[in-house]
Amino acid sequence: IHYQPQYEFENNKLVGFEALSRWMHKDLGYISPDVFIRIAEDIGLHFEFDLWVFTQVCHQIVQWREEYVYSPRIAINISFKTLEMTDFVTRLQSIIEHSGCPTNLLEIEVTETASISNMITLIDNVRAVKKLGINIAIDDFGTGYSSLSLVRTLRSSLDTLKIDRSLVADICSSPLDREFARKVIGLGEVLEVKVLAEGVETLAQRDLLQELGCDYAQGYYFDKALTVKAAEKLIIKQRNE
Ligand code: C2E
Ligand code: MG
Ligand code: MG
Repeated sequence: IHYQPQYEFENNKLVGFEALSRWMHKDLGYISPDVFIRIAEDIGLHFEFDLWVFTQVCHQIVQWREEYVYSPRIAINISFKTLEMTDFVTRLQSIIEHSGCPTNLLEIEVTETASISNMITLIDNVRAVKKLGINIAIDDFGTGYSSLSLVRTLRSSLDTLKIDRSLVADICSSPLDREFARKVIGLGEVLEVKVLAEGVETLAQRDLLQELGCDYAQGYYFDKALTVKAAEKLIIKQRNE
């Protein structure tokens, strides 16, 4: 698991990390999570996989704290199919209790997919996760199936809207894309949630997003997903600044 830093525009402060899974296969080399997560979903392994990642992150936060390394909040991607499972919240609760990880240091990223079969359980689960003290983010907002009605239904449980990187890519050259970004940031204000721009790759994009009122940023302009050691160094460096 690697950790990609998230920064606050206003003061360039490190505000969080996103946990991103990496798989180096001995014969096939690097396999993108876009590929293996889909396979995990197809063969029904997504539930155990997502819980495994969640467990690893809880342990990492606790281990760091034992070494006096105080990480900011860490976001974990949870597949929609996992969020539909009835025992999801009970399992999360037990992982939290066993690890002793403070829930205010955890965030769950929810991505909508086409095949939501159990919408009622999903909504109940998101609300129950929020009640545990965990932050909720909507991932890849503005693409695929991320719907306004879901965001509206879940609004009282939401903390962060993550603007998909495809909407960020051309904001400097396309007036249309710039207006789209402005409206999504405005939607964040209406919902009273923080807005994070994904895939920020240039200083020009960074500056424009700040001007548009975006709260947080993540992307190659700042950092790629870091190893545990590199993330640890960054946390210590920020603390000493
Ligand atoms: P995501 O959650 O939207 O994660 C952001 C992706 O964008 C990551 O790709 C990240 O490395 C990449 N990225 C970050 N900054 C930039 C940038 O400036 N430019 C560009 N072009 N890309 C950038 P990655 O790690 O390949 O992950 C792809 C997707 O796989 C993730 O999209 C997420 O949906 C899924 N995923 C990754 N790890 C996990 C996991 O542990 N569990 C689950 N369920 N899904 C995961
Ligand atoms: Mg994500
Ligand atoms: Mg995303």
